[in-house]
Amino acid sequence: MDSRSKNEVTVQGIAASQGIAYGQVFVYIQSDITVPSYQVEPDKRIEEVARFEQALLVTRQQIAKIQSEVSKNLGPEEALIFDAHLLVLEDQALIGETIREFQATGRNIETCFNQVSQRYIKAFSEIADEYLRERASDLRDVAQRVLQNLLGQAENSLSRLADKRIVVANDITPSDSASIDRSAALAIVTDSGSRTSHAVIVARSMKVPAVVGVRNLTTRVQNGDWAIVDGYDGVIILNPTESTLFRYGKIQERKKSFESRLLEANRRPAVTLDGVSVPLLANIEKMDEVGLVQEYRAEGVGLYRTEYLFLNSSRVPSEQEQFLAYKGVAEALAPNPVIIRSLDLGGDKPMAGNPDLFPKEDNPFMGFRAIRFCLEHRDIFKDQLRAILMASAYGKVQLMYPMISGHEELARANAVLTECMQELKERGQPFDENLSIGAMIEIPSAAMTIDLVARDCAFVSIGTNDLIQYLLAIDRVNDRIAHLYEPTHPAVIRTLKQIVDGAHRHKIPVSVCGEMAGDPVYAPLLLGLGVDSLSMAPSWVPAVKYVIRAMTMADARALAEEALTMSSPREIQAKCDAFYRARVEME
Ligand code: PEP
Ligand code: MG
Repeated sequence: MDSRSKNEVTVQGIAASQGIAYGQVFVYIQSDITVPSYQVEPDKRIEEVARFEQALLVTRQQIAKIQSEVSKNLGPEEALIFDAHLLVLEDQALIGETIREFQATGRNIETCFNQVSQRYIKAFSEIADEYLRERASDLRDVAQRVLQNLLGQAENSLSRLADKRIVVANDITPSDSASIDRSAALAIVTDSGSRTSHAVIVARSMKVPAVVGVRNLTTRVQNGDWAIVDGYDGVIILNPTESTLFRYGKIQERKKSFESRLLEANRRPAVTLDGVSVPLLANIEKMDEVGLVQEYRAEGVGLYRTEYLFLNSSRVPSEQEQFLAYKGVAEALAPNPVIIRSLDLGGDKPMAGNPDLFPKEDNPFMGFRAIRFCLEHRDIFKDQLRAILMASAYGKVQLMYPMISGHEELARANAVLTECMQELKERGQPFDENLSIGAMIEIPSAAMTIDLVARDCAFVSIGTNDLIQYLLAIDRVNDRIAHLYEPTHPAVIRTLKQIVDGAHRHKIPVSVCGEMAGDPVYAPLLLGLGVDSLSMAPSWVPAVKYVIRAMTMADARALAEEALTMSSPREIQAKCDAFYRARVEME
């Protein structure tokens, strides 16, 4: 049946990235691979081996394609890691043993390949030599692909979207989102998640509309169904009628004309009506977003999330690989600042295929994450710190640590940094000896002890995504409680004020780089509370600049002062909405 003849159905989710898309659905279900086991008849055995060879060939082609895309988008050095993957596919021991196992047992080739590759993975992961241990991750990644191809599951891969499609997924992991084909995803819709899950942050930076928390949608749609995704109001309309399409066409026209007004105004500086300049910086994940930073006229990078370099790969990138990536961004944006955040893996960003580095945890957001991981895996941490230091010779690089819980942890991280500086000096490697160091304030304990933390850093940047999650005890990716995730909760507003005042007493500037900073409804409140600069997805700069240019700082301070006296999150939200609407008219 043509899906356009089905009934129109409206489904409400959570608006996560603005924009409207209309198109056909591609359903992406993530699941662990279950390998079926069965006996192959003797007369089918030649065919079975041919099936294996075909799967190896397809896998080789897929990896070569990803390698050439990564090389184009991130640079040839980043693409080198796929050479190791291609080598796995040439490994005669692995292939020969699989075929011998098959000939001896007659079990289907998936079962034999799975057994042999698991044996190799186990052997590699137990070797003391780090280089050889890394081969276990390469093998795991490639084995996964070969199995998917044998089982005909490869068409689910997000990197292989053939046509422009609305991706409807049960969940999108950060490594999925790193591999999404940007030109083919019309919109992203997920059953789970909330506004601050990392997949959404990526969608926003890709300027793709996104709606999350649409429970069970994957079970209600089929590949090829037609849908409208309204990323402004968080609505999905399945099988829209002609009149709905017409109505959405009108809405889209209006939004487009507002957006062109925003872009026009974006050429001018971010200065309030009473003459206060507000630095607006960009959050980026990847090297290829540098173009967006320039296009949207952000004054540098306020948050470079380096995890994506790691999530794109099944092994830890080397110091040299990281150096080239950071140097690329620093050079491209010099003399503007680039604040590189040290690794924030863990939480909802575990490194795929590395259960030895990231064992499964019941409570990952409260677990082995970010600076905790780095201080325990000092070799990985030091490689990154040296890479950042080396890049600092090529632009205005600054460094900040994520998830700092207090002064002692910051001091421990700084001690490792000092060691790295010493090592580079011994190597004669140039770097910025006055590198500015910042701490992210996203754990309540750091906010409460801001006076202590501020002694050992040159700036702080508030990660509201995590700070709100920890203050309100609301898992930021759990759609069941997403409605309780309230940026305007009095506890949040008071904590922000406490951080700003504490940091200012120590004469250090405060930035906000969580999603709140890129929301034009909250930006005036943050600035009114005394925040000095804001960092956001590049495409949000125009909307935030627009409201800044339409307000006075005096009014923003009055808004913040009033908010600090209020008791209800909803009332504070209404105040912020009214402040915004009074200054920015969309029509
Ligand atoms: C935050 O927590 O607000 C933040 C910017 O960091 P991330 O979203 O990467 O955890
Ligand atoms: Mg965070």
